[in-house]
Amino acid sequence: MIEEYKSIKNIAWKVMENAEKVLDEKKNILEIAEFLEKNILELGAEIAFPVNICVNHIAAHYTADINETYILKKGDVVKIDIGCHINGFIVDIAKTFCIKENNEMIKIVDKCLEEAKKVVKEGNKISEVGYVVEEIIKDTNLKVIRNLTGHRIDKFGLHAKPSIPNYKNFSSEVFEKDNIYAIEIFLTNGNGWVKESTYSNIFQFNKYVGVRNETARKILELADKKFKRLPFAKRWLKEFSLSVLEFSLNELLNKNALKKYPVLIEDGNGIVVQAEDTFFI
Ligand code: MN
Ligand code: MN
Repeated sequence: MIEEYKSIKNIAWKVMENAEKVLDEKKNILEIAEFLEKNILELGAEIAFPVNICVNHIAAHYTADINETYILKKGDVVKIDIGCHINGFIVDIAKTFCIKENNEMIKIVDKCLEEAKKVVKEGNKISEVGYVVEEIIKDTNLKVIRNLTGHRIDKFGLHAKPSIPNYKNFSSEVFEKDNIYAIEIFLTNGNGWVKESTYSNIFQFNKYVGVRNETARKILELADKKFKRLPFAKRWLKEFSLSVLEFSLNELLNKNALKKYPVLIEDGNGIVVQAEDTFFI
């Protein structure tokens, strides 16, 4: 299993290298997302969640839309968050890039991850992560985003307890052998808090409910069988006409058959940087 996990992790970071190569000004983020998802499959893994591409003050849970219009421009701070798996063993990684410019914030968040990962060892307290991060950023103008954290990963379960805060805390949880942990750090020059927007384009199976609408029934079955109850993108359902798709997704959300991931935005409209890696102890 350790060998298999290493190979999935290698695939994820290979895809991230390719992300760095294709990110450029004047590119639509739909082109980037589709390229990277295809790349995951070509390299022999499955997609654990849609490639998230979050620009500037958007912190998390945004992926390209069906009719995406956002074109990257010089100076954009772009978070690429990639999830892949084999047999439900998920690797969840993220890195931030700045289009055609150097960005100090990215260097700092990368350093935080570099130092934080040294404490990910069996028996260490997970609270050490927050101490390491806060020590690094204390002389900068950056804040930790307090309501986004690292997390443990279960088989087919992306976000499992305990969560791993990036601020000083008194959690008594320790890193345990045979577990997978994502160390995931978000920093900002804004308020240090994200809020949910009213928009979502990532969804996930929650439960089967009775629905008469045939498209809704088909979507629910895809969410269960094809997407394996992992998060999926609205744009992966291109076979349905947009109006029927939207109507059906709403029906499934209202009936609690699906859950949604609202796009998360920095509360003070600050720029957000992210760095994430996954470790199998
Ligand atoms: Mn992630
Ligand atoms: Mn994560």
